[in-house]
Amino acid sequence: MVTPFLKVREEEPPSRLAYENRFTSGSQTPPLAHLDGNAHRSFEEGAFWQILPSYEKLSADEFLSYRFQIKNTLSNSTPIATQKLLAFVSEHAGETFAQDVAAGLRQAPMTVQITPYTLSRMDWGNPYTCPIRTQFLPLGSRLHVDHPMLTLDSLGEKADSPVPGLVHRYYDRVLFLPQSTCPVYCRFCTRSYAIGQDTQQVVKYKLEATPAAWKKAFEYIASHPTVEDVVLSGGDFYNVAPPHVQYIGEALLNIEHVKRIRIATKGLAVNPSRIMYDPAWTQAVLNVANQARSRFKQVFIHTHINSPQEITWVTRDALRAFAENGVVVRNQSVLLRGVNDTLEKMSLLVKRLSAISIQPYYVYQHDLVQGVEDLRTSLATTLQLEKELRGITAGFNTPTFVVDAPGGGGKRVAWSYDYYDRTTGISIFSAPSVKPGKHFFYFDPLHTLEPEIQAKWLDPDGQSAMYAQALAHLHP
Ligand code: SF4
Repeated sequence: MVTPFLKVREEEPPSRLAYENRFTSGSQTPPLAHLDGNAHRSFEEGAFWQILPSYEKLSADEFLSYRFQIKNTLSNSTPIATQKLLAFVSEHAGETFAQDVAAGLRQAPMTVQITPYTLSRMDWGNPYTCPIRTQFLPLGSRLHVDHPMLTLDSLGEKADSPVPGLVHRYYDRVLFLPQSTCPVYCRFCTRSYAIGQDTQQVVKYKLEATPAAWKKAFEYIASHPTVEDVVLSGGDFYNVAPPHVQYIGEALLNIEHVKRIRIATKGLAVNPSRIMYDPAWTQAVLNVANQARSRFKQVFIHTHINSPQEITWVTRDALRAFAENGVVVRNQSVLLRGVNDTLEKMSLLVKRLSAISIQPYYVYQHDLVQGVEDLRTSLATTLQLEKELRGITAGFNTPTFVVDAPGGGGKRVAWSYDYYDRTTGISIFSAPSVKPGKHFFYFDPLHTLEPEIQAKWLDPDGQSAMYAQALAHLHP
């Protein structure tokens, strides 16, 4: 039995409805009390990773090197790797907590994979409530019963893919997925049907990551002159080799009607030092951005930071490469229970992103994906948070709260619902410019509903009655 270096405090989450309804009693908080002066601009300088026994002797050059980050990334991809991961967890948070993680791993739809940078940002003294742990390490004791309407491909991406790895949903935009791996795996991934390795729960749909497969996507885009925007995601574009970054970027820029490329990466959140220590990827991106500019086109970086705790001086320094070269970086967060669903945490995230020249762009309502119900919030939480957040900073640095309409309706502004019944947790959206005439249903998590409504959801007749009631309101 290994003794944890910090005493682990197990905190029970607040009671179900008290937690979800914590905003609704009216604001008793003094105005702007959630903003802590200039805290968003102060970064803990120095070797923050040395607080962990595993990293205490490592200098900046050792810990932040790309080689160290890759070589010491922990995962559960093999039995030996799992042992190593659990030994690390046990060393830093104790054996009981490690057993809870082991139970979570057995039920998770996503493989676990975590970089040393991200491990160093976890609060191992309070792992049950740590927002970074919550995103990357599942706990058996915290899993909730799935809402019956959850699926693995909740956005219906496979149905909207004219060629493998290319999602064409909007009139003028496509999503191109050139490969299916990431530097880390997020528990809540919307693409858990395809990303990462198979788990005990999910056999993944395989995305082909070869130039031959990419060629089909280029041909499709070239033959659709309405397409002006290409989002490069995956998986994570950080995992595309630099020569391929250049190859894909140039191939897209060579298509006359492609005007904008958005590169989606979580790299800046989970391994930012790569920008300084292994600059080939960044250079390839900058080369593509420079070529774009010379042709009156644009390249943007879209990163994915959910908690202010993920942002350090390393992130700030990494951002210089893009800021000094005029590449705009925007952030897309997912609203996650226990991570960023309070005004205090979301305000700090938004202000801290702005302080390092990242524009807070979207906050997504958590998608209806299976196996991570403990992370979802109700739409009511999202609406209230948006209301309270707006005004803390300039409008262009205030994120838009959106629901990615389940079944392929695209992103809808959260408050634009056509119907929302807080009792049954059903909300309905429409998307006239994406799929006219269709309705898209979102469902609040069961744990935010009263017990008798939860029971109705687990009964097929009860489900049908609630559906019928919602549709009757829509079409009286
Ligand atoms: S980095 Fe993005 S694609 Fe990869 S696991 Fe996380 S959310 Fe999914």
